[in-house]
Amino acid sequence: MKKRIIFIIAIPLLVCLIWYLQRERTYTSNFFALDTSIELKINTTSDGNKILQKCEARIRELENILSATVENSDVWQLNKNAGNGQSIPVHAETIYVLETAANVSKLTDGAFDITVGNLVDAWGFRTDNPSVPSESEIESAINLINYKDVFVDEENSAAKLIYPNQKIDLGGIAKGFIADETVSLLKSENINSALINLGGNTYAVGKRIDGKEWTVGIQSPIESNSIIGKLKLTDKAAVTSGDYQRYFEENGIRYHHILNPHTGYPAESGLHSVTIVTENSTLADAFSTACFVMGTKKSLPILNSAGIDAVFYDTDGKITATDNLKSTFETN
Ligand code: AMP
Ligand code: MG
Repeated sequence: MKKRIIFIIAIPLLVCLIWYLQRERTYTSNFFALDTSIELKINTTSDGNKILQKCEARIRELENILSATVENSDVWQLNKNAGNGQSIPVHAETIYVLETAANVSKLTDGAFDITVGNLVDAWGFRTDNPSVPSESEIESAINLINYKDVFVDEENSAAKLIYPNQKIDLGGIAKGFIADETVSLLKSENINSALINLGGNTYAVGKRIDGKEWTVGIQSPIESNSIIGKLKLTDKAAVTSGDYQRYFEENGIRYHHILNPHTGYPAESGLHSVTIVTENSTLADAFSTACFVMGTKKSLPILNSAGIDAVFYDTDGKITATDNLKSTFETN
């Protein structure tokens, strides 16, 4: 009898213990990389901390390949050897980013152009003391911009810049690509529920732990702790480019970091921000920069034919969302 009672109590306790140990748990990680704050959140029954460590290592590895400022990175090598005629061996990841960048440049008539490196340097956006460059500095930087001068040899995994002093800057696309790569790594670790945020490049993997869609707020460009609306996302990236993200003021005028390759000045297309929503985060990142340069009217037909969604926030406060987002985007 006694044995039976112990058995009756022990079995449910054991079941509860097994359930407790095997339940899905949330793991988070926050660190600084890619010149921004990174936040990763995953839901899993496995060792989440170990998976997050792998993600961090992969993010840093990709930064060391794609950053223009990391010595010996692929991009550093390409810039250093610009114009010397020799193709430089680069990683497959670099080839993919260069090819995706070229496609977006073509589709946007050069509004997106990774050869803006000298122009970004002239404005000093990577330094602590950005300032308005002289007309002649802008002109010589613009003369070196042309996405068609990035020669990619996919077969031999090599690339080169055609003219001396040309300079690539992947600031407008690399974070999106690294988000895609992080998602691939998570999927290979059987993670089906995650939210990653690489400084505004967000990716929602699967659904939340409660089975609902992830909710991602679109930051207000005017008030720092406020949002203009919310997106409900599953297996999609949401990438925002905005005039509030990096800027400086000189003589009372505000200059932001998204440059119009045709004028050499910060883009003035009547936008405060644009958020791109699509499965491929590399494309989302490149298009967010491009659409910011082009403005709402010019961007919409290009996005429509590419099947990509977006939310535009104009400087007059008007919000425009593409039709597909009508059910998933809620304004505040
Ligand atoms: P994002 O925040 O994704 O719009 O990227 C902005 C960053 O991309 C800048 O800080 C520059 O490094 C780079 N960039 C600026 N203007 C352009 C442009 N027109 N095309 C490509 N990259 C750009
Ligand atoms: Mg971008």
